[in-house]
Order: sequence, then C-alpha cells, then structure tokens
Amino acid sequence: MGRLQKILIPLLGLVLAFWFYSARDTFNPEMLRGKRVIVTGASTGIGEQIAYHLARMGSHILVTARTEAKLQNVVRRCLELGAASARFVSGTMEDTAFTQHVVREAQTSLGGLDMLILNHVGASYFGFFDGDVEHVRKLLEVNFLSYVAMTTSALPMLKESEGSIVVVSSMAGKVGFPFTVPYSATKFALDGFFSSLRQEFTIQSINVSITLCILGFIDTERAVRAAAEVLRERPAPRDECALEILKGAALRRRELYYRYSSTRLPLLLRDCAAELLDYLVRSRYR
Ligand code: NAP
Repeated sequence: MGRLQKILIPLLGLVLAFWFYSARDTFNPEMLRGKRVIVTGASTGIGEQIAYHLARMGSHILVTARTEAKLQNVVRRCLELGAASARFVSGTMEDTAFTQHVVREAQTSLGGLDMLILNHVGASYFGFFDGDVEHVRKLLEVNFLSYVAMTTSALPMLKESEGSIVVVSSMAGKVGFPFTVPYSATKFALDGFFSSLRQEFTIQSINVSITLCILGFIDTERAVRAAAEVLRERPAPRDECALEILKGAALRRRELYYRYSSTRLPLLLRDCAAELLDYLVRSRYR
C-alpha cells in the first residue's frame, strides 16, 4: 500500500500539473504590443531571441550587454521586424552604476517601464569546483547582485505601470548540478531573493509580477560549446524558449518551465525521491 501511494501520488501530481498548465494557456501577442521592455544579455543567445519576438509583437525595446557591435545589429533587426522602437545601452553588469544607468535610460527614452527581463549571465567554467572563491564572488555580482540592483532601480517605474519582472534561471538553480557549482549557486540565490520578494509584494499589495524561468539545456552557442559533448540530451531551440518566456511573463506566471518534460516533471521527484532525482541529474552526463 505504502509503495502504491509513493507511485500514485506523484502520478496524480503529474496529471494535475499537466492539466493546470495546459488549461491556462491563453497568451495573445497583442498583450505585449506597445509595452516598454528592458532585455539584459540581449546581444546573443536567448536574450537576442526574446528581443526579436518582442519586436514582432510591436514592443518598445531597450537591449543591453557589453558588446556594442552585436547590440547595434540586434537593434537594427528589431526595427526591421516591427518594433515600436528599439535602442541599446552597452556596459558591464559588474558595475552597479551601469545597472542604474540602464534603468535611467528607460525612464528618459521610454518614459517608463512595463517589463524588466533579467537574462544576462557571466562566464564560468564547466568542471569540478576548483576552490576559486574570487570567481564565485565575481559570478555572484554578475548573475545575482546586478539582478537585485536592476530590480531595485526599476521598481518605482514597475509599480507605476503594474508591470512585470522576469528572471531567467535554470534547472541548476532548483537542484544541485555537478560541474557548474558557482553558476548553480548564483541561480539558487535568484530563487531565494525573488521568491521572497514576491511574498512581500503580495503582503504589501504591490501589483508587480515576478516570473522565475527554469530552463533546461538550450541550443545557444555558449551552452552548446560548454556542454554538448558531455550532456546526453539534445538542446531545445532558443527561439521557442524565448517565446515561452514571454508567454509566461505576459500571463504573469510565478514560474515558467522549459522544456516542461526535462524540468518540471523531474522536479516533482524532489520532495519524495531526492536521491533518485540526483541520480537522474548525474545520468544526463556522459
Ligand atoms: P549567452 O548566449 O552566453 O548570452 C549571455 C548574454 O549575457 C550575452 O548577451 C552577453 O553579452 C551578456 N553578458 C555576459 N556577461 C555580461 C556582463 N558582465 N555584463 C553584461 N552582460 C553580460 O547565454 P544564454 O545561453 O542565452 O543564457 C541566457 C540565460 O538563460 C542565462 O541567464 C542562463 O543562465 C539561462 N540558461 C541558459 C541555458 C542554456 O542551456 N543556454 C540553460 C539554463 C538557463 P556580452 O558578452 O556582449 O556582454
């Protein structure tokens, strides 16, 4: 009987979760027309694709990253695709003053902000933890503290527009992953900060949504270069991933899982069979 319960309860959870998420899908691209959006880490990868989807939907877009030449191309493409407006600010998220500069730019050039998409990620290594504490500190600054700083600066505008914060995280921010210890730590920190902040927003009746995006393996250049050789699974397409992020954000979901089958479903095991989940994570590697 006990064993039956252990199987039946997660199975029931799976069926209910599937029904719940599929039944609520009422996204319409018009939801993002005319919205004023900041996308960080938009010179390449998922952030770049988010910018292109927003452009097709007719949003006002402000993209940022360090590489000016790539941002210029992204802005040009956004305008070709139909963005209501598109501009960029280049600089590094290691610098708190830069985070404030980006938000000020939204204030002056867009006159406000409806959505803040925090997506950038600093470079790290793929391998056993090497004991480099300075690297962990630096990565926390780029992957975590700059997200906090951007949110803090943008909050007055987001409160005014009753807007949205989108935090791009990872399966590695929900369950321990080998070979990406510093990266994983920064992603867990995002969950702690933004999930707690969401609670405070509810208590204070602040109508700003927070969507935490839990992504699996996506086919961006950086990720494929780092992990394609060692991961058994095939990466999911970045343009589809970007669209799912925007759907989750527009629908003001608290969490978004992509792909659902390689993220949300395994995570259902976390509370009832944590060691099995750890084993499944390890078995993804060659
Ligand atoms: P990516 O292709 O490496 O792009 C990272 C972006 O961040 C680039 O635009 C990069 O531009 C910018 N960036 C890096 N360091 C920066 C800094 N110091 N200051 C400002 N901008 C900086 O990454 P991605 O694969 O698209 O990942 C996007 C998000 O998805 C990340 O949060 C990542 O953790 C998450 N995610 C990705 C995967 C995956 O398999 N791809 C899986 C799970 C989660 P510059 O170099 O020009 O600054």
